[in-house]
Amino acid sequence: MTKGVLFIMSGPSGTGKGTICQELLKTEDIYLSISSTTREIRKGEVDGVTYNYTSVEEFEKMIENSQMLEYAKYGENYYGTPRKTVEDKLNAGKNVLLEIEAQGAMQVKKLIPDAVLIFIIPPSMAELKKRLTDRGREDEDQIRQRLDTAKWEFTQAPMYTKVMVNDDLMRCVGEVSDFIKSKTEERQALDILLNEQY
Ligand code: 5GP
Repeated sequence: MTKGVLFIMSGPSGTGKGTICQELLKTEDIYLSISSTTREIRKGEVDGVTYNYTSVEEFEKMIENSQMLEYAKYGENYYGTPRKTVEDKLNAGKNVLLEIEAQGAMQVKKLIPDAVLIFIIPPSMAELKKRLTDRGREDEDQIRQRLDTAKWEFTQAPMYTKVMVNDDLMRCVGEVSDFIKSKTEERQALDILLNEQY
């Protein structure tokens, strides 16, 4: 059986990557991995659905026991991808999507070189600032920090398989969806060739 393809989506805070992932789940046969984090649960989030919320001690134990496929510190908090579920899904032939930041994405790229990495960018810094401001979740200082972080994150984008602009949500979702389909077909075609007798 062809193994599933591992897709990674990254992009600065405010680019809309979370919304893109949720839209993809409506049409694509793909498993969205649930990360573990030590950050506080926010209003509207659900433990075990948005994230698995853990203590720093529990998180560090998971690192020690090699239970994390990757992990990173983002701000003051740990974020990580539990290894077992991702590996099980891929081995069962299911495509998997990780929505993670760039340090973690680079760790996965080293471990799983055939992972497909998608980086979402905003159409402009002004638009990114507007989206963060309109969201109303952070104060002015925090927004400045997020914009500074975004600048660093853009330097990582060339290491990704594909960079896509989220100028219009549904247009961008369509582009990501077509890309996922074409990468999956490409992998299946290669797999047939590899297993063909001659
Ligand atoms: P937030 O606190 O806004 O939910 O997430 C902050 C950042 O952490 C986002 O860029 C998000 O993509 C990233 N993130 C979420 N889960 C993981 C994970 O498991 N590993 C890594 N490396 N980053 C993650």
